[in-house]
Amino acid sequence: MNQLALAGGTPIRSQWLPYGRQSISDDDVASVCSALRSPWLTTGPKVAEFEAAFAERTGARFAVAVSSGTAALHAAASGARIRAGDEVIVPALTFAATANCVRYQGGTVVFADVRDDTLNLDPNVIESLITARTRAIITVDYAGQPSDMDEVRSIAVRHDLQLIEDASHSLGATYDGVCVGTLASMTTFSLHPVKLLTTGEGGVVTTDDQDLADHVRRFRNHGITTDHRQREEAESWHYEMIDLGYNYRLTDFQCALGLTQLFQMEHSLRRRREIARHYDGAFAELPELKPVTVLPDRESAFHLYPVRLDLKRLSADRKTVFRALRAENIGVNVHYIPVPWHPYYMSLGYQRGQWPVAEAAYERLLSLPMFAQMDGRDVQDVIDACFKVLSAFRR
Ligand SMILES: *Cc1c(COP(=O)(O)O)cnc(C)c1O
Repeated sequence: MNQLALAGGTPIRSQWLPYGRQSISDDDVASVCSALRSPWLTTGPKVAEFEAAFAERTGARFAVAVSSGTAALHAAASGARIRAGDEVIVPALTFAATANCVRYQGGTVVFADVRDDTLNLDPNVIESLITARTRAIITVDYAGQPSDMDEVRSIAVRHDLQLIEDASHSLGATYDGVCVGTLASMTTFSLHPVKLLTTGEGGVVTTDDQDLADHVRRFRNHGITTDHRQREEAESWHYEMIDLGYNYRLTDFQCALGLTQLFQMEHSLRRRREIARHYDGAFAELPELKPVTVLPDRESAFHLYPVRLDLKRLSADRKTVFRALRAENIGVNVHYIPVPWHPYYMSLGYQRGQWPVAEAAYERLLSLPMFAQMDGRDVQDVIDACFKVLSAFRR
């Protein structure tokens, strides 16, 4: 039992526990089947229904459904009028798509460092990165905790910059009691299966601004001003393409899934927070492992539960601990490799060493399993495996 599975011992559990997994209910299946039998597979009534329900849940005036979180970011970057030569400030510790949307528009990504406690964009470094060409700031709510929106927004206002919040992790999170979705001029969500709510692939842009909502609606539909259903209702064939857009539409059967997923979301959110409390309590006794701080004025949605290893207390590096936990059948992961370290960004001339907090965090980060369907046994297995592995490598 105490012999590490990595060294031939018995693993903590016999079945693999992934770091994230979707919850699909019978209601979800019924809802998708009924949409599949309806006259509309895409551009039908379920899209508007889902958008209205999503807007209501987040408190935003408008929600526009698109085909992925990446499409949502691309649409927001277009809505912010990011163009060739414009600079956009993006945290270095995120998924590549946050930065890529700037490149789609021909803009330049200016990577910023993160705060050491929350690993969110550090508001104190933003102003030193602003130049005459800066057009926008994109914040990321790392692991599900809202960024420092008041501080970032006041910088954006002072310098006349667009503010986009990549809330791929933070659907259902709150900041000062306010729901994520209304804290920036545009907020983007991902509906990928590892996220809190899924439509398979999918994304949403929320905004309170009618013009931005209209822009995103056109952007997802080739830049055309009316959709197929509107023309059908108006008994008209005429349409106009006024911008260069894309086909980033989300189908009706996916929106049908999104609707039933929205109803179950509160349960998933509660369960994730409960699991986080269990982890927090257990790991208070394990000094080799440090969870990310959640600030008192916000509620995280706990898309992830990242921890940092205290490597000074350990005789092993992160890679060995990662392999040892996986050998115990605990599917740990790492979020994220700093985006400027990827070969594509390196080829654009970015060099390591300019984001000391994000880069040091990356060397020590592990994401522990976190999803609503984990039961008490699963949670305890993760805790036991962490104690087992880290005690074995204790200096
Ligand atoms: C998941 C994710 C995305 C991209 O979402 P997709 O739906 O996979 O395109 C973007 N940013 C962050 C931070 C994410 O976690």
